Amino acid sequence: MFDINIIRKDFPILNREVNGKPLVYLDNAATSQKPQIVIDSIVDYYSTYNANIHRGVHTLSQEATDVFEIARKKVQKHFNIKESKEVILTSGTTHSINIVANGYAEILQKGDEVIVSAMEHHSNIVPWQMLCERTGAVLKVIPMNSEGELILSEYEKLLSEKTKLVFVNHVSNALGTINPIEIIIEKAHEVNAAVLVDGAQACSHIKVDVQKIDVDYYVTSAHKMCGPTGVGMLYGKKELLNELQPYQGGGEMIKEVTFEKTTYADLPHKFEAGTPNISGGIAFGVAIDYLNEIGFDEIANYENELIAYATQQLLEIEGLKIYGTSQYKTSVISFNIEGIHPYDIGTIVDKLGIAVRTGHHCAQPIMEFYKIPGTVRASFSFYNTKEEVDVLVNAVKKAKMMLQ
Ligand SMILES: *Cc1c(COP(=O)(O)O)cnc(C)c1O
Repeated sequence: MFDINIIRKDFPILNREVNGKPLVYLDNAATSQKPQIVIDSIVDYYSTYNANIHRGVHTLSQEATDVFEIARKKVQKHFNIKESKEVILTSGTTHSINIVANGYAEILQKGDEVIVSAMEHHSNIVPWQMLCERTGAVLKVIPMNSEGELILSEYEKLLSEKTKLVFVNHVSNALGTINPIEIIIEKAHEVNAAVLVDGAQACSHIKVDVQKIDVDYYVTSAHKMCGPTGVGMLYGKKELLNELQPYQGGGEMIKEVTFEKTTYADLPHKFEAGTPNISGGIAFGVAIDYLNEIGFDEIANYENELIAYATQQLLEIEGLKIYGTSQYKTSVISFNIEGIHPYDIGTIVDKLGIAVRTGHHCAQPIMEFYKIPGTVRASFSFYNTKEEVDVLVNAVKKAKMMLQ
């Protein structure tokens, strides 16, 4: 049973005040809050079995290794990944993308083509630009329409034998659009291109089955899924990961080292150089359990209701425009009020205890598309309430009155 009052008690931070008002946290697209059980798992690791993993024969090291590897299995199960060695635990989405981009530096040839979408986060644009500069590959962009949806007919025109890789986010962090990744993957496979899906914004709302969608690489960050910062996932199909050169050298990732030659460890360790974020990995597993206990269907139902209500209430404000109006969207409402800079709205609502994000949301090309400097972005989670939506709407009305 989804009981919002019980759920809110799991999150200690939701009790605090900001500027003398109860915190209304609507910046979930930047990072989510953490339930006590996740916080406790970190404290428990450091207070009772802190040791380095995969290295010692001593008991503490074995305990830590076991719990860390159980966390990897939880990630595997959650995303329905075939083998646990296909789960690379990284420091987060950005790190995961960079591992793949660097791996392709050895594979791509001059004239090969790489496709990204017009609504990517900078972390899914910049590494590919760097890759193209290094290899002479060409970057192509899937355009979007004014609703904030990718234009699939244009995507199909971009695909050819030259296409080697396609990168697209599952859910846009700036607009909330849920992209039709299954179609995008299917079309890419018709020309033998591999697809990397950036799931950073999707995974707290949608349960992903990587085998069902047949994606080649899927990446995400724990901190957007009620887990800690500094840990995330790179899923890749085994055959593909085996072809990629590792991006960092160091301990953990080797089989044998001599000064003449080093052989790399098998997956997943080949991509996990150095001591990983042990407590973070463990807490990531706990966060996944927590979300599954609430249930992704329940989360989606509740959040959809909340978004519909917030959209309707906000649109009653004269001059307010929402960017990202696809019927396939989740969790994010990006908006502006005519004649008012988004930053000014953000500053006033912060005084009223509300955390929203203002700016370009690491997606400047989207802002350029709409010819705006940025937006105010309210992003929702299953622990937000209708009452909080009302607080936001009243605060925006007040800001409008003060600024116009
Ligand atoms: C948050 C986010 C990222 C970056 O994630 P990090 O945890 O900062 O590496 C990338 N893509 C999208 C869509 C995001 O929402």
